[in-house]
Amino acid sequence: MATVLRDGVDRERLLRTFLDLVAIDSPTGHEQEIGHDLEARFADLGCAVRRDHVGNLVAVRAGSPDRTILVSTHMDTAGTDRGIRPVVGADGIVRTDGSTILGADDKSGIAGCLEVLTLLRDHPDVTAPTIEFVVTVGEERGLVGSRQLDVELLRASHGFVLDTAGAMGSITYWSPTSVYLTITFVGRKAHAGVEPEKGINAVKVAAEAVAAMPLGRIDEETVANIGTFTGGEARNIVPGSVVLEGMARSHDQHKLDRQLHAMRYACQVAADRHGASVDFGIETIYQTYKIDEDAVPYREAAAAIRSVGLDVVPRKSGGGTDGNFFNAQGIPCVALPTGMVDEHATSEHIAVDDMVLACRVLLAIVTGDPR
Ligand SMILES: [Zn+2]
Repeated sequence: MATVLRDGVDRERLLRTFLDLVAIDSPTGHEQEIGHDLEARFADLGCAVRRDHVGNLVAVRAGSPDRTILVSTHMDTAGTDRGIRPVVGADGIVRTDGSTILGADDKSGIAGCLEVLTLLRDHPDVTAPTIEFVVTVGEERGLVGSRQLDVELLRASHGFVLDTAGAMGSITYWSPTSVYLTITFVGRKAHAGVEPEKGINAVKVAAEAVAAMPLGRIDEETVANIGTFTGGEARNIVPGSVVLEGMARSHDQHKLDRQLHAMRYACQVAADRHGASVDFGIETIYQTYKIDEDAVPYREAAAAIRSVGLDVVPRKSGGGTDGNFFNAQGIPCVALPTGMVDEHATSEHIAVDDMVLACRVLLAIVTGDPR
């Protein structure tokens, strides 16, 4: 029975749903319209739906009372692009017209969830667990949606995050910790033409600090970046302050701590040299997780992947998903590919065949025997 269901993915319907979702603009911070649309879609497919105070959607499809799983996606798209015009190629690949992202990240994941719900509705005789679909807002801006989600409302013992690129068949079992850095240097303003000796040039201090920092790829597990450098007022004023924004990530907390220490040290040395001050702000955006091969979500995902004829590819990612949040909250999750390629770029695209495959994997997870 489960196999009948798995082979029943309706390619045209799945594609239509995906294109409908892509047509609704939803850059981060502007998820109102798609939130309403999804609320109606999940409710129509038999879910009990609620939205929380920030707009995260939780849709629960009742199934076996003794087994509850989480399926996680996000409704916002990266950046500010609107008016996305998808083009379905004769080669079965959906692209944009080249002027925007596609938003397959993560609308391909959501379309897969809706297709699975449709098939479950049409085959009421198939046994499935209770499924908690969580569709967050603000994922692309540092998991701001999931970080405000009340996980106490969830019952799931474990989950699956449909939100990665990578080979079909891959299981993202290991993801880094990511921290955002906001570094503020304060020197002293002065008239650059009349009495520069009274000033402390914050641009010079910050530049020396950045030049002394280890940046880029630090080691196999660790990366760091300073992405913005803002400060100063006018060419004839010794700049009094500079703000740097950056980030650092590592799969190893110890290495991350060491990297942050090195960056902070470079800032302090530069500030001390010139008599300036520095505030080194750190915000942890998400925490690393590592799921063992014999843990439940990994085992269930691997069995499902093999059941549709794919090889399992363990994947260590350089980025995070809402899965980092759920893992940190005690709901072990792995992240799975939706078929998306080149997400966040105008070259973003997705093969309809891969969307179908991702959907079949999710169906196999849902209809598989509890292990
Ligand atoms: Zn995503």
